[in-house]
Amino acid sequence: MSDITNLTLADLRDALKARKVSSLEATDAYLSNIEKAKSLNAFISVTADKAREMAKASDAKLAKGEGGAIEGVPLGIKDLFCTQEVLTTAASHILDGFKPTYESTVTSNLWRDGAVMLGKLNMDEFAMGSSNETSYYGPVVNPWRAKGENRQLTPGGSSGGSSASVAAHLCAAATATDTGGSIRQPASLTATVGVKPTYGRCSRWGIVAFASSLDQAGPIARDVRDSAIMLRSMAGYDPKDSTSVNRPVPDYEAALGGSVKGLKIGVPKEYRIDGMPAEIEKLWAQGVSWLKDAGCEIVDISLPLTKYALPVYYIVAPAEASSNLARYDGIRYGYRTKNYKDIVSLYENTRGEGFGAEVKRRILIGTYVLSAGYYDAYYIRAQKVRKKIFDEFLDAFKQVDLILTPSSPSAAFGLGEMTDDPVQMYLNDVFTVTANLAGLPGVSVPAGVDAKGLPLGLQLLARPFEEETMFKGAMAIEKAAGFNARPDEWWA
Ligand code: GLN
Repeated sequence: MSDITNLTLADLRDALKARKVSSLEATDAYLSNIEKAKSLNAFISVTADKAREMAKASDAKLAKGEGGAIEGVPLGIKDLFCTQEVLTTAASHILDGFKPTYESTVTSNLWRDGAVMLGKLNMDEFAMGSSNETSYYGPVVNPWRAKGENRQLTPGGSSGGSSASVAAHLCAAATATDTGGSIRQPASLTATVGVKPTYGRCSRWGIVAFASSLDQAGPIARDVRDSAIMLRSMAGYDPKDSTSVNRPVPDYEAALGGSVKGLKIGVPKEYRIDGMPAEIEKLWAQGVSWLKDAGCEIVDISLPLTKYALPVYYIVAPAEASSNLARYDGIRYGYRTKNYKDIVSLYENTRGEGFGAEVKRRILIGTYVLSAGYYDAYYIRAQKVRKKIFDEFLDAFKQVDLILTPSSPSAAFGLGEMTDDPVQMYLNDVFTVTANLAGLPGVSVPAGVDAKGLPLGLQLLARPFEEETMFKGAMAIEKAAGFNARPDEWWA
């Protein structure tokens, strides 16, 4: 088979089971795509030997008619997931040389189901960012370019390596994480499907922590079906994560066949923000009419607390980050400064040299909002508003089954265009942070392109643990949009 890497994950899975293609062939084909795509900078490390070993083991199982749900399928892993004995950096200098002695639960689940690891994907440092430009390893380049231009664009962030490598066919699918939008925004900017499941659906154990009450793992994949297959393998109860929820994992792929007739779709007026490009507004209206044509009932809803979501997020997330990142001290693992005279200067210089500017900004903000005298005014108040945002969503979900919004306020922007203004960068998360604050599942589906030919996504949000309904809605949008554009392979 000549173009194995053009198969969707679902088709590759079936071809592997039917033994029309071997996992080793698929793995070699992806490794060769990765080799040709160095200019995208999507991988921090490529684990070619390990990949071939895993592929051979999968082929042996497949030959006996055995193997898991995605046996032999080559994946990319965001470098936030600890992988045993394999360098795990969180794209930070401070984790130099860190080879975990254990495997994250999500990646263990994927290996249990037979997946093959191609390597570790680039990302924003500690998942803080929306453009992949805070990575110690340099930005990832979006495979998509504006028509007639060769300007380098962001693939979004923080899961920019995941979105770019899925869009450029450097892996069949990828893992990602989403604290405030890091799965859905990069998916939107690269015409891929990104799913942030309900908080508690995927175990956080072994994922380098950013903001523990918001972090969730999920897939970035080429289409809705592939993302459903990935989530089923990634999700599950894990006693090692006290926030993991003990309920069975549904067969999300099986749910895709269902009709969306009669589903009530909420359209929140507060997501119509000032300065939003007319094209995004138009695409949103298009999404509404697609769902209407598919038999859904459209309901105008109001979520007035939406305007507080970003300010609340930028208190809660840095607060938790400042606490989580206190552990990096240069003593037991990772980077250690050469420049110290005592224990205090060892800590200070290690952290000063090891963290990048954005991470330092978050630690400073977080430490400030948690400090005595400010704790009640900022952190406690933010927690109260967060609860109200959750209640407001639950109320809305009494009237509607799903909520439809744009995924991000703009298409892919140029590398370097927003780096001078952190607040401008934070505004990228305006449509996505609400789901993290409320713990809701959300998906971004490719829906169209702007005048420059750059992809745009639509977001669906659902009630907690109603991923199946969300997937059904996502499939309806995917079918109606019929999106099949691909970026020109300028990098190969
Ligand atoms: N862009 C957001 C931030 O910088 C979200 C990141 C994420 O979801 N990991 O915090």
